[in-house]
Amino acid sequence: MKIGVIGGGQLGRMLALAGTPLGMDFAFLDPAPDACAAALGEHIRADYGDQDHLRQLADEVDLVTFEFESVPAETVAFLSRFVPVYPSAEALRIARDRWFEKSMFKDLGIPTPAFADIQSQADLDAAVAAIGLPAVLKTRTLGYDGKGQKVLRSAADAADAFAELGSVPCLLEGFVPFTGEVSLIAVRARDGETRFYPLVHNTHESGILRLSVASDAHPLQALAEDYAGRVLDQLQYVGVLAFEFFEVDGGLKANEIAPRVHNSGHWTIEGARCSQFENHLRAVAGLPLGATTRRGETAMLNFIGTVPPVEKVVALADCHLHHYGKAFKDGRKVGHATLLCADRATLDQRIADVQALIDA
Ligand code: AMP
Repeated sequence: MKIGVIGGGQLGRMLALAGTPLGMDFAFLDPAPDACAAALGEHIRADYGDQDHLRQLADEVDLVTFEFESVPAETVAFLSRFVPVYPSAEALRIARDRWFEKSMFKDLGIPTPAFADIQSQADLDAAVAAIGLPAVLKTRTLGYDGKGQKVLRSAADAADAFAELGSVPCLLEGFVPFTGEVSLIAVRARDGETRFYPLVHNTHESGILRLSVASDAHPLQALAEDYAGRVLDQLQYVGVLAFEFFEVDGGLKANEIAPRVHNSGHWTIEGARCSQFENHLRAVAGLPLGATTRRGETAMLNFIGTVPPVEKVVALADCHLHHYGKAFKDGRKVGHATLLCADRATLDQRIADVQALIDA
């Protein structure tokens, strides 16, 4: 079976690393000359709106999936005419736009911060009056890793905020005084079977994920599965979906969903019985899903900007290096380490060991 992937970054690369043993071949469509997934499959170097190359991809593969959600709607619609596409055009339409996404949460009875659609500075002024400060202004589309958003703490912050974000459609959200951030990686098969990984506790710095720790029997697991299950069924979703929540007042508020494999699920490569990458491929290919349980105490640390010396990372016990083969650059995710340990005390020690290499 040949899988087409829109996007050829590290998520595409890790999909191919998981799918190759299943006998799958891969083609990646990505305009970047140095797309790091290209080492693992065919690289169709073209823009996402290039219909000739989209048609070439559709003709070559059995199905198409995505490694990022900001794909133009026309691209998805065009591909869908020739080849099965998972997740669906509708799932992508909702997940890439924060207004559609939060409106869906509200319709499904999933708690989420107060929010308002912002098309002008006048809308923003009215929404600040209604929602109050502090609040967070986010572009409706194309935001990631804390980009395309601004925390508004005072009237002065709000005064020019719409123009500062480029005068594009935005969403204003009430600021959530969260005690933690957790994510749930879920997978739904073509026949509707759904499985969930253990909740992950995430630590961000400057808007970028640094550390994910998979929990054991988290008290909010059942609630998170209930909320995510509503979204999966509503969208008749096929594939892996990541759901990010704020932990607040002993409950959860939905932040966002990602219709794809997700950075906070990278621990599953060695830390779960079947990784998020393999389970995504199983789901879209119509294969039975794999077990989502942990193999032990497990965590993931991101390498941002640069990867510590390879010989030092692989010398650490219980540590697995994933080097994305990308050019090093400030703020860019260039690799990660997965930790898999027998007990929690050892895991905490290993997290400190990897952190020391990052800080060195
Ligand atoms: P996002 O791109 O929506 O995931 O936001 C990036 C990060 O900004 C989140 O992981 C939070 O740490 C923070 N953040 C986003 N929205 C809010 C909010 N409404 N209240 C408080 N913090 C937020």
